[in-house]
Amino acid sequence: MCHSVGHMLRTVTGKSLTARELHTRLEAKDGEIHSKMFTLLANLRGSKEYFSKLAMDVQWMLKQLGPPTLFITCSTAEWFSEPLIEHIRNINRHSVPNIDNMTPAELCALDPVTVSIHFHKKWQSIFTNLINSKETPLFGPVSDHFWRIEYQQRGSAHVHCLLWIKDAPVIDQSTYEEVQHYLNKVTTCAKPDSTTSPTLSQLVSKFQVHKCNSYCQKSFKNNGKFFKKCRFGFPRPVKKETELSDPLDCLAVLKTKQPRKRLYHLHRTPDEVNINDYNPALLLANQANVDVQYIGHAGSRLPYYITEYMAKHERSEQDQLWQDIFSSSKSLGTNAMSFMLKSVKSRQVGANEAADRLLGHKLYSKSRQMRFADLEPAITAKRVLKPAAEISHLLKTNPDCEDIFMPHWVLDIYPARPDEMELVSLYELLGWYEREKLKTSKEPLQLKGYGMYLRHRTTKPYIITHKLINPQLSEDKKQAYFYQLLKLFKPWRTEDDLCLPGKGYHDTYQLEKHRLPEMQQYHEGNVQRNQAEEQMDRDIAQRADDTTTAQANTDVTDDQEGALAGCQTDPLRSAMQGCRRFPQQVKRKGQTR
Ligand SMILES: [Zn+2]
Repeated sequence: MCHSVGHMLRTVTGKSLTARELHTRLEAKDGEIHSKMFTLLANLRGSKEYFSKLAMDVQWMLKQLGPPTLFITCSTAEWFSEPLIEHIRNINRHSVPNIDNMTPAELCALDPVTVSIHFHKKWQSIFTNLINSKETPLFGPVSDHFWRIEYQQRGSAHVHCLLWIKDAPVIDQSTYEEVQHYLNKVTTCAKPDSTTSPTLSQLVSKFQVHKCNSYCQKSFKNNGKFFKKCRFGFPRPVKKETELSDPLDCLAVLKTKQPRKRLYHLHRTPDEVNINDYNPALLLANQANVDVQYIGHAGSRLPYYITEYMAKHERSEQDQLWQDIFSSSKSLGTNAMSFMLKSVKSRQVGANEAADRLLGHKLYSKSRQMRFADLEPAITAKRVLKPAAEISHLLKTNPDCEDIFMPHWVLDIYPARPDEMELVSLYELLGWYEREKLKTSKEPLQLKGYGMYLRHRTTKPYIITHKLINPQLSEDKKQAYFYQLLKLFKPWRTEDDLCLPGKGYHDTYQLEKHRLPEMQQYHEGNVQRNQAEEQMDRDIAQRADDTTTAQANTDVTDDQEGALAGCQTDPLRSAMQGCRRFPQQVKRKGQTR
């Protein structure tokens, strides 16, 4: 936290700034505090800004990687885990009197730290050994992922996970049969035979059977009459085979405000109308409620609804704190620090969540790192100051020296790339290179004028994020948009290299796009995505109107929130090896196959 405050205070705007000028600005309390607060708080676990940043990261992943395939939720049911309950009893035996008479709920409340460790180990194991297994990945090879841990009202943890599966079918691109086949392979709602699969059968009855309660029942108005419906769509319809719906029907929000229609329905017998879709191996490993939803739609709207929910922020009273900080007359640094402290103190968290935070457990994981490209011209780009000691030294020895900033990726490092990287674009350099103080390779890529080196990454590149500009809004925006494109994709050493002589940024783009296919591809990708989204929005609105008029749909519903909040939920078994080999096709009750 102190590091973040320090970093914030060291980030200032302006290229030419001498040590003396900086000193004057500081004395005048010219803090760019408002815009910096976001960056600062984004590092604070659980803050509103933390999740907004996470939401933006997911949006960039969707943009770069295309639609994810699956949305998975694994809940926890610590009260039902005998090994965990036994473990808590054993490790606390000497310090807690009468421990043998305590109920599982009391034991879990007694030791939230162990409950939290258990949940994390279990999820890590499921993710690493089952979902992302090298040899037998449960849903197919995972090319990318994003997961986030969240806490229910009563404090129990669950995890939401987005998976991009290599070569998985995508609705609107693959055939109906391909999607159907994939759905049948990775998910089921089968009621297992209790004699041939006793364990799975028990787990399904215990954790996957939905019982409607006041939480899931919502009132809807239809033809002037009110009626109640389960927002998770139970009981779900009986189907002879797995059926896909028209994605537009799922996206169209009806004026009657009924829950969304489901994207598909699995093959389901009358016995199974209250069983929530699951994957047998995942359920066996998780030993608590699981939910597996296929969301592979080429459009960006479906994942958008899901990720919007995934990255929702938690309750906090930060807004009032904002008021406090601005009404105060303390110094910038003191203000920032006290704001952070208040912010931390004001968070309301359950015991398990508190344990998690204290233990420093990961609250999310993503397969890609993001790197922000500050594409602003030098005069408005944000820069990080050198440490205070170095600046004080300059103030004493050379107050008019401008060398008060740390090297900036776009303004300093890229233009100083070695000659052998002459044709490497800023986009490629930011995506694929790290900077290092030490020489680590035989053919070091030394930056011109710096005692620093570039190293090529061996794994996946960073996803490059940047300020988004809509070129349609004005001529200025259009120029700014193409300025960004040229800066990212056309190799340059100075800003003057960006434009062709006598031409503007847009004209230069038009003249140079054929020479720079990546730039053209990036631009055309943006255009196509926007057009597709606009078209989709029009279609959705149209469909919502049509459906409302016809009032045809009264059968099925969907839950926008994905997780089965309200359902009983989980614990750890090291049964991963067995799970992996578990046949995907569950033998149903009474089935002779
Ligand atoms: Zn219900």
